[in-house]
Amino acid sequence: MARSWWGWGNVEDAVRGAELDALLARARALAPGELTGHEPPDVGSLGVPATRLAPPPSLAGLCSADPADRAAHAHGKAFRDVARNLLGDLPHAPDLVARPRDERDVADLLDWCSGDRVAVIPYGGGSSVVGGIEPRFADGRPAVTIDLTRLDRVLEVDPVSRAARIQAGVLGPHLEDQLRPHGLTLRHFPQSFEFSTLGGWLATRAGGHFATLNTHIDDLVESMRVVTPSGVAESRRLPGSGAGPSPDRLFLGSEGALGIITEAWMRLRERPRWRAKASVRFADYAAAVAATRAVAQSGLNPANCRLLDAAEALVNAGVAVDGGVLVLAFESADHPVRASLDRAVELCRDHGGEAPDEPADSDPASDRWRSSFLRMPYQRDALARHALIVETFETSCTWDGFDRLHRAVTAAARDAIRDVAGDGVVACRFTHVYPDGPAPYFTVYAPGRWGAMVAQWDGIKTAVSEAIAAHGGTITHHHAVGRDHRPWYDRQRPGPFGAALTAAKAALDPAGVLNPGVLVPAP
Ligand SMILES: Cc1cc2nc3c(=O)[nH]c(=O)nc-3n(C[C@H](O)[C@H](O)[C@H](O)COP(=O)(O)OP(=O)(O)OC[C@H]3O[C@@H](n4cnc5c(N)ncnc54)[C@H](O)[C@@H]3O)c2cc1C
Repeated sequence: MARSWWGWGNVEDAVRGAELDALLARARALAPGELTGHEPPDVGSLGVPATRLAPPPSLAGLCSADPADRAAHAHGKAFRDVARNLLGDLPHAPDLVARPRDERDVADLLDWCSGDRVAVIPYGGGSSVVGGIEPRFADGRPAVTIDLTRLDRVLEVDPVSRAARIQAGVLGPHLEDQLRPHGLTLRHFPQSFEFSTLGGWLATRAGGHFATLNTHIDDLVESMRVVTPSGVAESRRLPGSGAGPSPDRLFLGSEGALGIITEAWMRLRERPRWRAKASVRFADYAAAVAATRAVAQSGLNPANCRLLDAAEALVNAGVAVDGGVLVLAFESADHPVRASLDRAVELCRDHGGEAPDEPADSDPASDRWRSSFLRMPYQRDALARHALIVETFETSCTWDGFDRLHRAVTAAARDAIRDVAGDGVVACRFTHVYPDGPAPYFTVYAPGRWGAMVAQWDGIKTAVSEAIAAHGGTITHHHAVGRDHRPWYDRQRPGPFGAALTAAKAALDPAGVLNPGVLVPAP
């Protein structure tokens, strides 16, 4: 399999043939546009500028100045990244891509970069959707991208405490492959699972497939080991601790700006043996939201509790419904879960939900949604090649403010789509739900103009981000801050906390080389 340099995943898995024809037919109905196909440029023809850096001889063997390698590390995997790659617009490729073999190499690379004031971009799978791995700096300084994917091993398993010491550069499938012989699993499955790493999940506080309880990777961390320019920070393995502010919490979500995570002890579980799932249809969206809240507040803690609005249900689950579809699933390694599912369905029926009396082993609506979920990034790329804007944004808010936020954000998105593209669709689903609020996730489909799609998307994104901020939501529930969310993050976080974070950055990274401009202003 060959990795695509410009888009998602493997080249061989790209959408083509009958799948492409069917996708384009659906796209025409959603966002009527020209839909002319464009080929991605040949990476060799992009004229990536020559590197400005010569590594010390001791590190030269770890570093690649190959233009194609640098181009493939220049952008993350958001729509605006893919669109810029398709246009061959890569002004900020890293000067070098370094691939450390062990923690000593990581420390040596940091020493060199700190001494020479060279920017460092920690890089896992490169699936950032917020400009987090893009060497885009106001002062245009040279950059080394440190690709951590050679640190890819499970080093130790503690079956008694059910935990493992894992290197940070391991990609999702390889991590699970190494845990399987032990009968254990991390069970953290973000949509990007196949092409993202443990270190990336920790550095961005990624959200996995669990819709309740252990929603974020944070909940699965026992301890972390982080290499900073000021030394190695390793926390104790503890199931819980009240000894002051948590060191792990400082590095979770630090987005490569405070240090490079090299290892973590992660909490594991047994593979689930009991599963039950159902989808519940609603004629009214407000009733569907009320039912979802009832389930979220019931203490039943379903593994999946994703409310699809009517547009999302139609596009991605093939279900025509006026209000929405709630996809529910329970799983356990320890006990049957059918009773929990029955109780959740009962709560939904109290709010007018309709579900079959006997949930089957397979539920067509949730099965269709799941397979479409896994193909979505590939389909997004195929549509981008046909000048269609397909992108997502997400937030979370408390239940009491959801209705206002949802109305305001949807209206802002529709207005912005009309201004920049004429026609389009906004769909919403909940990715995670908490007792006190949901995490709504919006998808936009709009016809783009080839060459102008990035500016069109940026117009929509600015409008919806303003609406989210004005209605009390967070600028990101699980997609991180990166460079793209900084203006809103700066407004969201308390001022004294921002000052403390800047001081922590100065203590850990005195030369200010680690991912400059991410989380706090570049010095
Ligand atoms: C199609 C698609 C689906 C997605 N689905 C989800 C989802 O379901 N849930 C979710 O949370 N996110 C999702 N994302 C966003 C992205 O996958 C996550 O942010 C993921 O955690 C990034 O992991 P990565 O290994 O690719 O990190 P990268 O993209 O390489 O890096 C992300 C950030 O972390 C830093 N970083 C990476 N590794 C380290 C390290 N070892 N030490 C310190 N800093 C490091 C980088 O500098 C950067 O700031 C999705 C993205 C795409 C494109």
